[in-house]
Amino acid sequence: MPELPEVETIRTGLVKHVAGRRISAVEVHHPRSIRRHVPGAADFAGRLAGRQVIDVCRRGKYLWFPLDSGDAVVGHLGMSGQMLLQPSTAVDETHLRIRFAFDDGGPELRFVDQRTFGGLAVSEGGAVLPAEIAHIARDPIDPEFSDAAFVAGIRRRRTEVKRALLDQTLISGIGNIYADEALWRARLHGTRPTDQLTKPAASRLLGHVRDVLGEAIRDGGTSFDALYVDVNGQSGYFERGLNAYGREGLPCRRCAAPIRRESFTNRSSFSCPKCQPRPRTRS
Ligand SMILES: [Zn+2]
Repeated sequence: MPELPEVETIRTGLVKHVAGRRISAVEVHHPRSIRRHVPGAADFAGRLAGRQVIDVCRRGKYLWFPLDSGDAVVGHLGMSGQMLLQPSTAVDETHLRIRFAFDDGGPELRFVDQRTFGGLAVSEGGAVLPAEIAHIARDPIDPEFSDAAFVAGIRRRRTEVKRALLDQTLISGIGNIYADEALWRARLHGTRPTDQLTKPAASRLLGHVRDVLGEAIRDGGTSFDALYVDVNGQSGYFERGLNAYGREGLPCRRCAAPIRRESFTNRSSFSCPKCQPRPRTRS
């Protein structure tokens, strides 16, 4: 599932290729991909035809396109969503869900989504910040993210540190992969109680989160399957930089102990048994 680095990579590609262009027509090929747009496909297309895309913005794993109407197109990629720039002559992808054509006749924007967990909607008046995503916290590479508020917020919670990192109302953009990577760097086991983190420990953890996200953005994200690609259909390269995620049984790059996999909700957590000892049970 795309996390912040993958969505940010897509966003920068969209800024380059879509911002400033005027939409001429929109086709919806699957109703599930606009399920959050309650008035339906015709209304969705009608609100977008003739509108200019001003910019492409992101909060956490959500993208939005502010329009010259003051509305926005807000979208989430779900498990498998892709935003591809394709010449209008290119054959439609099997899982093409929504097509945007532009009045300059240049490349189309195609929303392709095999599993249809992703989707787009028009957010009325949402150009500055769509109301639908206003509850999502800023992400740690947002210049307005408050480090002090994060440190205080995570220490106030009575939860486990990995769950806190995945809580999009505390800090956004982090999913399973980058949570495991940041925890490995911070030498913390994911079940450590957040209210036992010292201020310096919480602050160090945030530093590691920021580092790993920044490095992954520079590598164009992590491609674990063929589904995550940038707007030109290219995969990212960060998987070679992963130290914990997906490395079960391989030696820890710090201490050589074999990386362990533990179940976490309906997924897995990867960590080093030596560098990241399990916390003692709370008395
Ligand atoms: Zn280790």
